[in-house]
Amino acid sequence: MLKVEHIGIAVTSLSESVPLFEKLLNSQCYKKEIVESEAVTTAFFQQGDTKIELLESTSEEGVIKKFIDKKGEGIHHIAFEVEDILAEMERLKTEGFLLLNNQPKSGADNKLVCFLHPKTTNSVLIELCQERRNKQ
Ligand code: ZN
Repeated sequence: MLKVEHIGIAVTSLSESVPLFEKLLNSQCYKKEIVESEAVTTAFFQQGDTKIELLESTSEEGVIKKFIDKKGEGIHHIAFEVEDILAEMERLKTEGFLLLNNQPKSGADNKLVCFLHPKTTNSVLIELCQERRNKQ
């Protein structure tokens, strides 16, 4: 894996949390994006080489809504950038990690993503992400 690409933080309300993080980080949110497949609206901050991704649920049934109901707001996942997501998924499967999706999915920020089940990663939700290349 190459680096921490971003850290995902579950929030109840982007309209409250975006100004909060703008103050905290002393930088502007540069992008908001709805990811239909995950039922979230994301807001991104670029901090040097890495990003903070705030996640607000768009649905009562969404994974972020469920996460907040169970655990409250807070760190939701750590995303690692990978060079070749299919190869990395294969490697991790072979190592015994449980993948939450068998094919890469479309994530925010023009990425292909895959999540690992937290029960095989010390309860930390891990996201793999790869920059989408032309054909993918
Ligand atoms: Zn993410």
